[in-house]
Amino acid sequence: SLQHYAALSIFPEMFDGFWSTGMVRRAIMGGFITGRAVDLRAFAEGVHKVTDDKPYGGGCGMVMKPEPLMKGIAHLRAEMPGVPVLAMTPQGQPFTQSLAEDLAREKGMIMVCGRYEGMDERACIKADMELSIGDYVLTGGELAAMVVMDAVIRLIPGVLGGEESAEKESFSEGLIEYAHYTRPPVYEGMAVPDVLLSGNHKAIASWRLETSLKRTFLKRPDLLEDRSFSREERSILQK
Ligand code: SAM
Repeated sequence: SLQHYAALSIFPEMFDGFWSTGMVRRAIMGGFITGRAVDLRAFAEGVHKVTDDKPYGGGCGMVMKPEPLMKGIAHLRAEMPGVPVLAMTPQGQPFTQSLAEDLAREKGMIMVCGRYEGMDERACIKADMELSIGDYVLTGGELAAMVVMDAVIRLIPGVLGGEESAEKESFSEGLIEYAHYTRPPVYEGMAVPDVLLSGNHKAIASWRLETSLKRTFLKRPDLLEDRSFSREERSILQK
């Protein structure tokens, strides 16, 4: 059923290219989702539509005022009943592929984007969840919101062409993905592995699992810390 995506931001124009390009555009045109960015200033008071103010307790920078954020959140909640509100903050729960899979089963998402030193805590706690895209600090929540929406929207059944391409990807099975090749078969002396040209689907699947395991050991050993191996994986590792 149709999912609804909205972002609350003082820079709604940042999302223009996001809604109008590639897979997200196809998801909208195909009737899988609606997407829009809502200007936070619409919920601010006075002629100047101020959304920030000086921090209590002193210190540098500005803080996003609670009233416009809370009004905006309440407005979007009323328009999109049952859709979870996610506040973007570097202090939030780290975003992962498995969280993306959970979020893709929701009715959509309302993304609240901070700027400056962040949002007034009283607005932040109005969200259902605080979400971080990684241990670094961006200037605003807009890019984080687009990262999260991009990863979630492509998992909605029907949005990607082959359902399989989302199921067998990096992180979905606790491993990073196998190596990809396309034509030509030899480029600058580097050949595509023979098995991929063999047409032997069983051998190809086994080669892919093997490279996926090897690459995870080499590039992301941390992923293997709490992971157990299937019987098939164990037999490849014992080779
Ligand atoms: N003073 C805040 C702190 O130290 O936690 C950082 C504020 S940051 C400069 C401004 C806004 O960018 C935040 O309110 C948040 O919306 C967004 N942001 C920055 N880094 C982020 C991250 N890693 N994940 C999600 N949102 C982030």
